[in-house]
Amino acid sequence: MQSADQLASKQLVLLGIGHTNAHIVRQWRMNPISDVQLTCLSDHTVATYSGMLPAVLAGQLSEQDMQIDLVRLCASAGARLITEQVTGIDPEAKRIEFATRPPISFDVLSVGVGSVPSVQGVEIDSTAPLLKIKPMQSFLQRLNEHVSRLQQIATDSTVRIVIAGSGVAGTEVAFCLPGWLKRNSIEQFDIRIVTGSQRVLNGVTSSLRRRVERALTDRAVTISLNERITHVEPEHVQSLSGAVYEADLVIWATGASPPPLLSQLGLPTDDRGFLLTDETLQSTAAGGVFAVGDSGTVNGTCLPKAGVYAVRQGPALWENIQRSIDCRALKPWVPQSSFMKLLNTGADSAIGEWKGLSFEGSWVLRLKDHIDRRFMRMYQTEGMAQSGHVMQCRGCGCKIAGDILDDALSELTSKPETPPLDDAALIETGAGTVVASTDFFSAPLNDLYLTGRIAALHSASDIVASGANVSAALANVVAPEGDPRAQGEGIRDLLAGAQLEFEAMGGRIAGGHTIVGARWEIGFAVIGTPVGRAVVEKGNLKPGDHLVLTKPLGVGVLLAAHMRSQCAAGHFETMIESMLHRQHRCAGVAAELGITAGTDVTGFGLIGHLNEMLEASGVSAALNLSQIPLLPGAAETFQAGIESTLAPANRRLESLADVGEGIRRQPAWQALFDPQTCGGLLLGIADDRLEEARAALETADIYCFAQVGRVHEQGEQRLIIES
Ligand SMILES: Cc1cc2nc3c(=O)[nH]c(=O)nc-3n(C[C@H](O)[C@H](O)[C@H](O)COP(=O)(O)OP(=O)(O)OC[C@H]3O[C@@H](n4cnc5c(N)ncnc54)[C@H](O)[C@@H]3O)c2cc1C
Repeated sequence: MQSADQLASKQLVLLGIGHTNAHIVRQWRMNPISDVQLTCLSDHTVATYSGMLPAVLAGQLSEQDMQIDLVRLCASAGARLITEQVTGIDPEAKRIEFATRPPISFDVLSVGVGSVPSVQGVEIDSTAPLLKIKPMQSFLQRLNEHVSRLQQIATDSTVRIVIAGSGVAGTEVAFCLPGWLKRNSIEQFDIRIVTGSQRVLNGVTSSLRRRVERALTDRAVTISLNERITHVEPEHVQSLSGAVYEADLVIWATGASPPPLLSQLGLPTDDRGFLLTDETLQSTAAGGVFAVGDSGTVNGTCLPKAGVYAVRQGPALWENIQRSIDCRALKPWVPQSSFMKLLNTGADSAIGEWKGLSFEGSWVLRLKDHIDRRFMRMYQTEGMAQSGHVMQCRGCGCKIAGDILDDALSELTSKPETPPLDDAALIETGAGTVVASTDFFSAPLNDLYLTGRIAALHSASDIVASGANVSAALANVVAPEGDPRAQGEGIRDLLAGAQLEFEAMGGRIAGGHTIVGARWEIGFAVIGTPVGRAVVEKGNLKPGDHLVLTKPLGVGVLLAAHMRSQCAAGHFETMIESMLHRQHRCAGVAAELGITAGTDVTGFGLIGHLNEMLEASGVSAALNLSQIPLLPGAAETFQAGIESTLAPANRRLESLADVGEGIRRQPAWQALFDPQTCGGLLLGIADDRLEEARAALETADIYCFAQVGRVHEQGEQRLIIES
């Protein structure tokens, strides 16, 4: 038995999960504060460790090495991760507002959204080849978008690269970019640092600067000092002095300026626009609101915006968050007076400085690599898979097994007077025909707004698959016991998310009921009206029909991995995107085309729902495993031995096909038994209508059109597997 969820009475919210706030999530993973819910708000599902970007450019590390996977980190900490755009906060009401979803409450908030390179006073042509260093999560992707253009230039001339800014970021990029250029077959290039400063690396000792300047000269990097760029044009930059520097690519790594969001928070700022705090890192005007890392400025100090300070603030912030929650006096943060500086020079060496002493060599690079990797290891979740008791999967994975259901219903359905039961039942009323269906599940995610959206789409799936229009929905919500504010916000989030989807499908929430129970559960009874020339039914498959699947499989196994904090951020994102992909237009188009054989693939997996169709139609089928689309990450997850808790029950249908061990080991075979939440439609389409159907469904924004098999006359074997 799973233990019941209990709603916390206090809310801790981290806005931006960078160098400081990530420390809180890490602490939470080891030692969560009781009766407090942790919510992480991030504009990306990964955070980047800036100190490693140069090594990635140089080819010493992979992109993954510099990423903290926030989906896994938050899942491992039991924290809610929300990636929607924050538009502001109401410090009085202690609420955070979003562009597209209801606000959330906080008791304690830590703002750590970092900084962005300053473009103040710079005119930028919209067609200029400008590449800002932030957001760093997309820097490499944006850099790679320039590859083919730069490669073309390199075929007959030298590629000219201007790096704006001569701080640590600009300097290390200048050192390490050649590695990236050479890996992309760009051999002829000029790199120039253009800076408004009088010297490179303000604030370091002259001995370190000398070493860096010499290394830059050795690598043929030109430095233009006292040249503040005022214009970025398609083929050059221009400085305040009027000097023009030709550029095929301009990498913008200037000094830190506040992200626009900081000015929308209604909190006091310093003269540059960073949030002003006292020495405890708490906003000078709002109790319970902290500002950390680059985003905050401690009143009366002028510390540089540097990751080392952001990292060192972590433990002080953790202490003060706990004190703030307990209403105890806060402790001051004491910044370190000096710190080790290490710069990657991109060629198997680094330059460093510690307490006024400078040094360089390959051992310095090894030291830097060791420090960086040690930092990143603290945020890794590999090897954290829970052993022993595995929790019951949520979403579709919490369904009752098909055989138990069949037994339970057999007495009822065997009575001759009982009309046949169906997922989407056609009901004749005095006023016409309606299609009715219901579905519900335990919340698969701790973001209830997202869960509400998924629940609406999932509950409407049977109606949509029958080719009917969604008209109205009645909600059933189970809320866990606990804090009334959390209960209220949770119910509101679930229903607001669901309402968005029902309205998008042309329906509405017409009513519902709520009760208190063990955990968040949500579902809808959905009423639809048939449209088009035909109702799509399971029993209409004909020999010769193509079996077409409209979404990839793997939701169940990835949700199971997510519950074990083993679902990577990128895989999580595509899974959510696939679940949220609406199909109501596809089913309508299918019905209009006269496609009458179809169902939706949900809890019993592709095999279970296909079997229902084959049984009802009195036919057999062949499935081609190589054509079964899988969500990114699903294959690896099956291979890692993870599966949804419903998968073993779904495997009762393994005997439908006679297959050998080789096939059983294939992820596509395992995917047949994987329960799907918001899964695709499975349609039977006649051969002569296939291309017409493909074209029509593609215009209806279909997610995919995968021809996974063919229908045959009923044979000895109901299912033949081809690979
Ligand atoms: C190339 C490069 C190399 C550097 N090397 C060093 C170095 O060697 N040593 C050093 O001390 N400093 C270095 N720095 C500076 C260092 O990166 C920053 O000082 C540090 O990242 C600040 O940490 P932070 O937590 O404040 O912000 P960040 O680490 O930038 O984290 C902020 C987070 O907030 C997220 N975010 C932003 N806006 C929003 C929003 N609206 N809603 C939700 N989330 C949001 C971002 O995606 C990000 O994940 C370097 C910087 C660069 C660019």
